[in-house]
Amino acid sequence: MVQQSAHIPQRKRFPRGQLLIDGQWRDASDGATLPTLDPTTEETITEFAKATIGDVDAAVQAARTAFETGAWPRMHHEARARVLFRVADLLDERAEDFALREAMDMGMPYRDFVDIIMPHCAGLFRFFGGLAMHAMDGAYRSSYDPHTRILTRREPLGVVAAITPFNFPLALTCSKVAPALAAGNTIVHKPASDTPLTALALAQVMLDAGVPEGVYNLITGPGGTLGDTLVKHSLVDKVAFTGSTAVGQNIIRNGADTLKHTTTELGGKSPNLIFADADIDAAVQVAFWGIFWNKGEVCVASSRLLVERPVYDEVVEKLARMAQAAVLGDPLDPQTQVGPIASRAEFDKVRQYVEAGKTSTARLVAGGGTRKINGKGLFIEPTIFSDATNDLKISREEIFGPVLPVIPFDNDDEAVRIANDTPYGLASGIQTRNLARALRLADRINAGTVWINTWHKYHPNGPFGGYKMSGYGREQGAEALESYTQHKSIWANIA
Ligand code: NAP
Repeated sequence: MVQQSAHIPQRKRFPRGQLLIDGQWRDASDGATLPTLDPTTEETITEFAKATIGDVDAAVQAARTAFETGAWPRMHHEARARVLFRVADLLDERAEDFALREAMDMGMPYRDFVDIIMPHCAGLFRFFGGLAMHAMDGAYRSSYDPHTRILTRREPLGVVAAITPFNFPLALTCSKVAPALAAGNTIVHKPASDTPLTALALAQVMLDAGVPEGVYNLITGPGGTLGDTLVKHSLVDKVAFTGSTAVGQNIIRNGADTLKHTTTELGGKSPNLIFADADIDAAVQVAFWGIFWNKGEVCVASSRLLVERPVYDEVVEKLARMAQAAVLGDPLDPQTQVGPIASRAEFDKVRQYVEAGKTSTARLVAGGGTRKINGKGLFIEPTIFSDATNDLKISREEIFGPVLPVIPFDNDDEAVRIANDTPYGLASGIQTRNLARALRLADRINAGTVWINTWHKYHPNGPFGGYKMSGYGREQGAEALESYTQHKSIWANIA
């Protein structure tokens, strides 16, 4: 993933972030702000509004009014699609601004963002714009009664609260907002407090693309209070959440009284199985980037590597060599492969897991330390523990950082048993030259995604989501559009 482009974008200070409520940018009603930090320089990038509970209520009221009386839900699908296509075009045009924001805010390599994330985000708006243009309605006759006609309609749910995590903030917002808007809903977005910068730019794109006032609202500030208010609000119909399993459970509990529709995209501890008959060099590449892309701050990171014993030592040695050679650095530098951890709190948490690994029965074969670049930054070395077992803390808990336990296995049944021995069920992978074996095993692994001889493949067409404690509901694909609608049946007597 080392990019050859010579262009190195420059850091800049972004203007103070405001709230977008009913089409107007405004400060928090008490003027409070929070800082957002650059994990490479450990300096403040800018401040953003710390909304009050009253501001949340105003955003929900605006979204409700836009839903009840505005044009958006009543517009023909095709007219909505045209707006979504404009959103996609503006994302393409502003890709470099978005990439600078994400690189400075989250520490993601700038070029990965431009090359991989931005096309996907724009693609989500094109995909759901296109899907919305397909007929969503049906007409049937009753076989019980020749005089009865049934018209079925899919209608929007109403106000959707989109609550997003600190990692991949733009992509995980677009994967909610694109289908929700395509179906005719209105939105209140609450991004993570560590990485709000792209949310501000996306809200401006919505205005510039012609999304009507009140349809798209942005509030920023602490999830504990604002999130609770949003989730319990009687005028919010659906919560689309991506984040930790603990907060997801809390959201489901808080939404029960008002019977909220919820989709929950939660944590993972995804197993990657390398069999002895795999193309080992290719499998090592897949395993390395499966865990270390975006410094392991990826929900579907291949965070448990299971290797068949005959190739175990070879795989560990090759992976360790790659980890030692990995280029850590400024995410704005095109040569950088691994950027800094997104925040001090995450950095401290990941370091504790590294220490837990060091005092366990596993063996540290690469990394294990922290780094500074030019005397600053929250960098953690790509860290690999061999001789791990599935009962270790580093094998069971989601670390959400660049830490990989490698576990040996002896046969297919043992591999499946270890792979499924986790509370999570987000993603998995199988590396083998035997496609029939891979497909047989894919049936037996309890996870929402199975990658065969690859990892980190995404497309707006492919449903994405978890099994077990990794959540429920799907983003992407027709299933996602469906989840932002409700069915109505209209029965007519034509006798
Ligand atoms: P998090 O702590 O759960 O926060 C996620 C979002 O929820 C943030 O916007 C947060 O706001 C907000 N929030 C916090 N408390 C809340 C509450 N009581 N009610 C409503 N909202 C609340 O997760 P994170 O640390 O940002 O993200 C990492 C986690 O997300 C990992 O577990 C990862 O696996 C998961 N994830 C899953 C997927 C997937 O697709 N399955 C994708 C990416 C990440 P504040 O930031 O202001 O606290």
